[in-house]
Amino acid sequence: MAGVGLRDRQVRDSWLADGTHERFGVLANAWKETLRDAMADIAACREAAKVGVKRAIRRHTADQSEQKRLYTLLKADRWVEDRYLSRLMRTHWRRGKNRTHNQIVVRSDQHHTMIDSRGRLWLAVPGLVRRQLVKIPLNTTVAPTGTLRLILRGGRVEIHYQIDAVDMKTSARPCGARVVGVDKGYTEALTDSDGNHHGARLGALLTVESDRLKERNRRRAKLRSIANNTTNRAKADRIRRNNLGTVKRDRQAARHQAQVRTEIFTAVHRVVDTAATVVAEDLTTTFAGRGSRGRNVNRRLAGWTKGVTAEALKNVSERRGSALVHVNAAYTSQACHRCGSLGRRSGDRLHCTQCGVVWQADVNAAINVLHRHRDPDITLHTPHRRVKQIMQERADRHRTRLPVPDSSRRPAAESETSTMLNSEQ
Ligand SMILES: [Zn+2]
Repeated sequence: MAGVGLRDRQVRDSWLADGTHERFGVLANAWKETLRDAMADIAACREAAKVGVKRAIRRHTADQSEQKRLYTLLKADRWVEDRYLSRLMRTHWRRGKNRTHNQIVVRSDQHHTMIDSRGRLWLAVPGLVRRQLVKIPLNTTVAPTGTLRLILRGGRVEIHYQIDAVDMKTSARPCGARVVGVDKGYTEALTDSDGNHHGARLGALLTVESDRLKERNRRRAKLRSIANNTTNRAKADRIRRNNLGTVKRDRQAARHQAQVRTEIFTAVHRVVDTAATVVAEDLTTTFAGRGSRGRNVNRRLAGWTKGVTAEALKNVSERRGSALVHVNAAYTSQACHRCGSLGRRSGDRLHCTQCGVVWQADVNAAINVLHRHRDPDITLHTPHRRVKQIMQERADRHRTRLPVPDSSRRPAAESETSTMLNSEQ
């Protein structure tokens, strides 16, 4: 806790004083920049934890002055002074993983690019020898600018840098004028409340990847057990080197991730083309704060995809000037948007026994999400049990307004069901 609120300059000075910096074996500029970057990550992580803590405080007490007292302590990084608050921070501020062992940050005035006689672009950065630059060939024709992050991965150097959002081509594209609700999916990235599907290739991409991973993991497990159980050292080493490496595996993973990101971002752009306000489920709360989903490939992919969708909705909205509104999504995928009663889900259909209609499940969910935007009773923080109660009351009220179904009406309702189903096919 003594480290909270420490600035990178203080850490830097203490490392310089006690000689820690001599162990790094890189130029001063490089480790200082990397340290600054790591400290900024820690601060970002801490601030993110505070969001969860504030939510917990709201649930904990309705007393305004007590809320304010806790918020103030939190804001000033003085949560240790309150036992309840310390406990909350301990749960929400998860220990991060350090990934800085393979990367370094290079300041904008420390690097430059040049083009050789064959038109290839090279990046020059400071190396270990003073005044001698390390030259890296790039596979792009666009020179990176600003502060760079160089990551060594699979025998290659990845160069990450920030592009100012206003300079991006898509930022110039105006957003639409309407209010649109969206439902995130697995087969399609998004379905909107007008009944349009966006990012239709997502399902296929994920299925292919999931099948590939299952098969690959099975083969690797088999090879690993051979390597572990054989008495032939040379053979074991050969298997580990040639069949259990990570270079190809990581490259394939990176390629798949890039494809999924493109599909999802394109889908979000298509929604924002028509929307001034996008209403969506708060995807960050449904999976944040949980660790690895274990070995289940499908669930891990689904969790990661949700994260990308949340990121895309936020980024694209900010860039193109549309508003992103998060709503409570409890029961939006199970309730009929017309009468509010809970329907029966089968595959991508939702059957409302009350109305006798079969809806396309994700379109129905997107419409429910849209309705939550102006819902007078159900807010983002309404507990889901209360949501169910409210919906039941509404469904009951809706039912009493309907004419009492008698035997002569039944066939009509049934035939409506079958026509809705047929018209969709
Ligand atoms: Zn209904």
